[in-house]
Amino acid sequence: MNYIKLRKNNLCVENILVQKLAKKYQTPFYCYSLSQLKYNFNTLSNAFKTVKPIICFSVKSNANISLLRELKKIGAGADVVSIGELLKAIKAGIKPKKIVFSGIGKTEEEIRLAIKKRVLLINVESENEVDLINKISKEFSRTISIGIRLNPNVTGKTHRKISTGGKDEKFGLSYKDFINLCKKVKKMKNLNLQGISVHIGSQITSVSPFKKVLSVINEIIDKTKIDFNFIDLGGGMGISYSKKEKQINLKQYAKLVNKFIKNKNSRIIFEPGRFIIGNAAILISKIIYIKKSNNKNFVILDAGMNDLMRPALYNAYHQIIPLKKINKIFRGKIEFVGPVCESSDKFLTQKRFSKIKEGDYVAIANVGAYGMSLSSNYNTRPTIAEIMITGSKHKIIKKRQSLANLVNN
Ligand SMILES: *Cc1c(COP(=O)(O)O)cnc(C)c1O
Repeated sequence: MNYIKLRKNNLCVENILVQKLAKKYQTPFYCYSLSQLKYNFNTLSNAFKTVKPIICFSVKSNANISLLRELKKIGAGADVVSIGELLKAIKAGIKPKKIVFSGIGKTEEEIRLAIKKRVLLINVESENEVDLINKISKEFSRTISIGIRLNPNVTGKTHRKISTGGKDEKFGLSYKDFINLCKKVKKMKNLNLQGISVHIGSQITSVSPFKKVLSVINEIIDKTKIDFNFIDLGGGMGISYSKKEKQINLKQYAKLVNKFIKNKNSRIIFEPGRFIIGNAAILISKIIYIKKSNNKNFVILDAGMNDLMRPALYNAYHQIIPLKKINKIFRGKIEFVGPVCESSDKFLTQKRFSKIKEGDYVAIANVGAYGMSLSSNYNTRPTIAEIMITGSKHKIIKKRQSLANLVNN
């Protein structure tokens, strides 16, 4: 189900004509479909209904507090990777008992807060982190629930920069180190080893890497004889950014997980980000100039790589859609670029595109995940607004940064 689509050649988000929004709000801005967000969450939750997983939304994919509040309402927990994300998730009303804390570089301050708030699991990634948590736990006179992140040496067949499960990556512990650390933690009175966690990367569209991961986890369980309360399978479920790329087959994945969980008493945790929010937003931008060069036309947008970094950072493909599609074709090759002073500030090259002119608007598609959350003030540009649509209603869920605020620090 798609809540963001062309209707009679006009781009709509739910019941709203995006063209109308573009005239109302200053561009560029992010525009979310709340129904899409809910639909995605429910799709995931239904696919895995046999195992009733705890679905911890990956806050780093999108940290807008209004969106977090909406996710909380429909039953999401949170996967956080910093003190800021932890505080924000709690502020959004998510119970600490539904929050897992991941990341290889948790500071003492972060660990203290996680313990104080009694999060469900601190997923540790090194022996030294275990020692630090153990030291801190003594001051609290409590046993602390931890999970250990395994590096299963499975790569997710995804972009090199978003793959995290290979043996040369910094994440998690190798099979051998994992087993040794389990032995050590078992002897620590203040620590309760409750979970095993993995996260092999992002935008994984085939289930075969997940299948491998499940078999490595089974080996670990056989070897350690630990009855983990929680098996945290991470996120990484891929979505469709282009026609060539199919979203992950959740039915197949669920089949694997159902089989895996049989005869175990463990609860499954997922940490999806992209799957929930990725296709629930577009970025609306205005064409400032069209500049002809030798062999192509630069369509210069008012959105830049500081607003949406994925194309520059990962060479990510994002479709660009005219808000009003007409039946005439633009003559010549087009390169959509931003105004930022970097040659990597470009979004897309197109051989064919609907006829557009300066002053027209376009939408960059599927930008809900790692869009706003990766944005910056580079080139001293203000962070942009976020608008949320439900049915025929629209509202600002984050204001565009004011120039006064931008300039004063
Ligand atoms: C980034 C991240 C996620 C979310 O990944 P998606 O591909 O957005 O689902 C989940 N868990 C951890 C530990 C992460 O670092």
